[in-house]
Amino acid sequence: MLPVYDLHSHSLCSDGSLSPQDLVSRAKEQGVTHLALTDHDTISGLKAAKEQALKENITLVNGIEFSTLWQGRNIHIVGLNLDVDNATLIAACEQQSQSRIERAKEISSKLAEKGLEGCYEGALQYCASGIIGRPHIAKYLVETGKVANMAQAFKRYLGAGKIGDVKQCWPDIQTAIGWIHAAGGVAVLAHPTKYTMTRTKLRVLLGEFKEAGGDAMEVICGHLKPGQGDDMQRLATYFNLLSSCGSDFHAPGQPWQDLGKFSQLPESAVPVWESWAN
Ligand code: AMP
Ligand code: MN
Ligand code: MN
Ligand code: MN
Repeated sequence: MLPVYDLHSHSLCSDGSLSPQDLVSRAKEQGVTHLALTDHDTISGLKAAKEQALKENITLVNGIEFSTLWQGRNIHIVGLNLDVDNATLIAACEQQSQSRIERAKEISSKLAEKGLEGCYEGALQYCASGIIGRPHIAKYLVETGKVANMAQAFKRYLGAGKIGDVKQCWPDIQTAIGWIHAAGGVAVLAHPTKYTMTRTKLRVLLGEFKEAGGDAMEVICGHLKPGQGDDMQRLATYFNLLSSCGSDFHAPGQPWQDLGKFSQLPESAVPVWESWAN
């Protein structure tokens, strides 16, 4: 049987809906053989995921998805194959989680100016982990009837360029790559097709990411339009980056792909896992 790698997924330790254990079980059911749990700015789910993976006989790759700021944009960098006991990584997660709390309070006061009161306290109800993010605020806005659904919450208040799109708290890409490398991991530029930037801008980003020590990019991330995978592979080859693939799964029945459900890497790809396979 061919291995099936899904190297981007979330649990309720950040903004996913499943426990790390249930996520691993679902991955196994979906035929995934190698799963990376890459929660936003935290490694807190990895221990439980690893224990479950041992029971289910699937390989768990220690991962994270760091939030960064690049040219005024929120760029995500996935770290894979991390040493979770590394002190630099642990301190980085602590710093990011504090930033998330301050940011959520700032978003909350901005939304209050628009007549949407109590967003921080409200969002905490939906955030079991303490890794608070915009989806928790969106959930509060949905539950209190301020918006019809999550998509509308992002479209009106929280998405790129809207009043609740606060991102000045995030480190630059070099810093996040440094954290990942300190923990022995591989730094992967997440979902390059999702940034709504021009191709010229994307090339600048990839060039700077590589320059800053970045190792890989997600060539296949969830559902892509025809030809996009090959197009991303051309960029990976040009910038001499390894290729990764993942669903970015957050919750069953959501717009994201299900675990393991995406096309294979193009044949010319050098898979990121070759960097840690012996
Ligand atoms: P944050 O980590 O607080 O910056 O929030 C970013 C997260 O919001 C992403 O990882 C997605 O999980 C979620 N998200 C972004 N856009 C949307 C959207 N249009 N609808 C629902 N969730 C979204
Ligand atoms: Mn998310
Ligand atoms: Mn992301
Ligand atoms: Mn993600």
